[in-house]
Amino acid sequence: NRHDNDLTGVIEADRAHVWHHLVQHKPFETGAPRVIVEGRGMSVWDQNGKEHLDAVSGGVWTVNVGYGRERIADAVRDQLVKLNYFAGAAGTIPGARFAEALIDKMPGLSRVYYCNSGSEANEKAFKMVRQIAQKRYGGKKHKILYRDRDYHGTTIGCLSAGGQDERNAHYGPFAPGFVRVPHCLEYRRHEQEGAPEENYGLWAADQIEAVILREGPDTVGALCLEPVTAGGGVIPPPSGYWERVQEICRKYDILLHIDEVVCGVGRTGTWFGYQNYGVQPDMVTMAKGLASGYAAIACLVTTEEVFSMFKEAPEDPLDYFRDISTFGGCTAGPAAALENMAIVEEEGLLANTRAMGDRLMERLGELKDKHAVVGDVRGAGLFCGAELVADRHTKEPVDEKLAQKVVGECNAAGVIIGVTNRSLPGRNNTLCFSPALIATADDIDHIAATVDDALTRVFG
Ligand code: PLP
Repeated sequence: NRHDNDLTGVIEADRAHVWHHLVQHKPFETGAPRVIVEGRGMSVWDQNGKEHLDAVSGGVWTVNVGYGRERIADAVRDQLVKLNYFAGAAGTIPGARFAEALIDKMPGLSRVYYCNSGSEANEKAFKMVRQIAQKRYGGKKHKILYRDRDYHGTTIGCLSAGGQDERNAHYGPFAPGFVRVPHCLEYRRHEQEGAPEENYGLWAADQIEAVILREGPDTVGALCLEPVTAGGGVIPPPSGYWERVQEICRKYDILLHIDEVVCGVGRTGTWFGYQNYGVQPDMVTMAKGLASGYAAIACLVTTEEVFSMFKEAPEDPLDYFRDISTFGGCTAGPAAALENMAIVEEEGLLANTRAMGDRLMERLGELKDKHAVVGDVRGAGLFCGAELVADRHTKEPVDEKLAQKVVGECNAAGVIIGVTNRSLPGRNNTLCFSPALIATADDIDHIAATVDDALTRVFG
């Protein structure tokens, strides 16, 4: 092994006792599970000492600044020996410093609430919406709109706002008061009744207004959207969409909650995905890339206006945000996030993401010209998807097993890519790419060449 890692008994222990995320375990009874042992830069090494170029930042869009960052590890270590934890009503030095640094990147927002995962941050936003409805509107304006194909997390509350039927299946019943609005995937507008060829973005946003009018604007408290839908198939917004969404929220006094769990901290080439579209949210949630996985941290960031609503009536014992996150008091998170942000800034990783993202789109576009099975290529920054279809005319998705085969071929060739589109069980047909923001032109070309070979092997 690369660095003489002692792996004695590791595979057996993993096979016997670890329940892995997001996977059917039956094949592990005979085959070995994959154990990732080390990482450096863009690469990870598995239990066999084999190097893989990681084109998905740790599997789920997380390791934005790459592996092996000693300066983050040092900052976390120094902080842990000084003060590892304190929660409740007290602050900490890294908590205060990171909040200030973060707000500096988010004009119009002012308050940072720390917690532990993207799901948890979204739950907290939902709770704020409900509490505001109680305080201001006698409980009436409590509904939360979410979009078809968007994902906001794994809890029952978040699944209630979950637009991916594949993830929701078998986990109901869900919480009441969550209402779905249509997706905005232009490539599949033919599946949406009445969708026009021109100005699709405006039409898709107007579908949200139609839902608001149907439900009654005085019942709708918030709209929760991903800036670019991630697991639902990598869906950047069509042009004009966000501007109209903002207008609609203002018109009906609806809070705009943007879920930046995937796009946050550089993924799309701006600090936050929404900043590509000139939109101004009331609440923003973030997690994954915030500390690139060097520590667990998530944040819910709000405007001062939202914050102020929770200190209006100090004489009322129920009038503040009665919520806590135990591990929101871990100092490793903000200490890591501060270093992570400094790295993005000092190494010019936003500009690199834009340049390398353009290159990735160009290379994937060439694959579309070459392979009929590639029906659509879309993305924003270093966050791209290539949707595979059995027939370009009908846009019938390829069998998920074939898409998985492409992923397997890439893996075998030493490049880890993903596949997603969890809108329907068994229909994951969108290859996805989200390499670390440090990717070089050679990395991008190597990823695309590997996919090219894999497509040829699977589809001829
Ligand atoms: N929101 C989005 C857009 C996500 O993609 C995810 C996770 O994939 C989450 C929220 C949930 O985050 P977590 O897994 O940290 O709870």
